[in-house]
Amino acid sequence: MRLALSRIHFPVTTLGPGRRIGIWFQGCSIRCEGCISRDTWRFREGDVMPDDVVQRLAPWLDECDGVTISGGEPFDQAAALFELLKRIKAHKSTANVLVYSGYGLARLDAYQELRTGLIDTLITDPYVRDADQTKNLRGSDNQQLHCLTELGEAVFARCERHLSDADKNLDVMFDDDGTVWLAGIPRKGDMTLLAALLRENGHVAHITEAPRLV
Ligand code: SF4
Repeated sequence: MRLALSRIHFPVTTLGPGRRIGIWFQGCSIRCEGCISRDTWRFREGDVMPDDVVQRLAPWLDECDGVTISGGEPFDQAAALFELLKRIKAHKSTANVLVYSGYGLARLDAYQELRTGLIDTLITDPYVRDADQTKNLRGSDNQQLHCLTELGEAVFARCERHLSDADKNLDVMFDDDGTVWLAGIPRKGDMTLLAALLRENGHVAHITEAPRLV
């Protein structure tokens, strides 16, 4: 069982409470208009084993508060997702796990694994570009937060609230090749504005936001 991953980073502080490991899956069949992660849409063969991912995460797992899995669409690789989560929980059962999905809970509820404690909190439903954007941890207000475990309730119930100014942050991360990544949930138009400002100042800047279709 191999996974197709886009990237992993630590620490991520904008996708759930505390210092978190961020894992982005590669491949998404939902393809929301205005998605800021269009680079994660393309499917490719899985090329990394869950054991190898956990080995790479091990030093971070020891010091993280939780793990956030996003994408891409994690449930488009559901079997591999659950294999990875089993290993993460076996390594550190106290790490709270948040998974983002563009599918609704009615569809995801068919997975028995949602009742086994592997996922503490789910944020479901697709990004809707024209919806309001007032809720913590969500890109559009139609998205729903579901606490599935006691740990999820303890950590994430307080995230069921409106955005505050303190929430309007992005993490900045640097790869070895000098690539700069931003993680978090930008406000609408922020990425376009940032790219324009960087280009004005002589930098190379690409955004991965999906264009408006109509
Ligand atoms: S927002 Fe999520 S579900 Fe929607 S297209 Fe982007 S990666 Fe896929």
